[in-house]
Parts: sequence; structure tokens; C-alpha cells
Amino acid sequence: MGNVVEAKCTCGYTPGKLFLGGGKSNFKTDCSFPNLCLECKNLFIGNMKVPFVVCSQCDSSSVLPYDDPSLIHNTGLSEDSWVFSQELYSLVPVARFLFFKRKPKWEVTRKLMLTNEKYLCPKCDNFELTFKFFGLWD
Ligand SMILES: [Zn+2]
Ligand SMILES: [Zn+2]
Repeated sequence: MGNVVEAKCTCGYTPGKLFLGGGKSNFKTDCSFPNLCLECKNLFIGNMKVPFVVCSQCDSSSVLPYDDPSLIHNTGLSEDSWVFSQELYSLVPVARFLFFKRKPKWEVTRKLMLTNEKYLCPKCDNFELTFKFFGLWD
């Protein structure tokens, strides 16, 4: 189940409702998460399960996911202020498992999250962009 999150800035900028995470049909291959393109200053939804996320508008690979510390004003993260959180699974390297004679398996390699903190707005360049939980999608 994915989360619907609304993003808004005090300058009036809003990318609308963002469908994050993955749904019933695509959660194994897709994990949607907001990213900022440093090239064209575009907030877009990238699939964090592909090795290289590129901007949906200009194809640039100079992008930062919105959990990057440089995009967050206050990094005093607290668990009860989570707006969105999802674990990313990846297949852990096979070599380790050849040695231990175990099958490769999926492990949590990264945790994606958005909190109540203020984030960098792509339009006005101020840390005034906020994310709000809106609902669930499947
Ligand atoms: Zn771009
Ligand atoms: Zn703004």
C-alpha cells in the first residue's frame, strides 16, 4: 500500500498530490519518492528501485531524493513526525551467500522517509515546502 502525500510551499507552489511508495500490483519493482532535479529545478516522482533516477522533465541525473539532508531544514527527525516511511529492499550480494551456502535474499537496504520538517522549495529556493499525509492508495 502506498501513501498519498500533499506538498505545499508558502510561496504558493504545489506539485499537487504525490502517490508515493508502491501499490498492490507494482510494489516489487516500484517505490515512488519525490526527487529534486538540480538542473531544471523540478520536483518529480522517481522510482527508487531503479539504479539511476533521472529527471522526468530534462533527463538529468543530477537529482537528489527528498530525504537528502541538504534538502531538509531541520534534521532533528523524530519518529512521530513521519509523514511517509517505507523500507527499500534489495537483493544482497550473492558472493556472501555462496560462502555461507545460502540463497540470496531480499534485505532492507534503505529507509525512505518524509517528516514534518521543512524542505527546500524548487520554485522559491526557501525551506518552506512541507509534506502532509493525505491518504492511502493501492
Ligand atoms: Zn530536470
Ligand atoms: Zn516556495
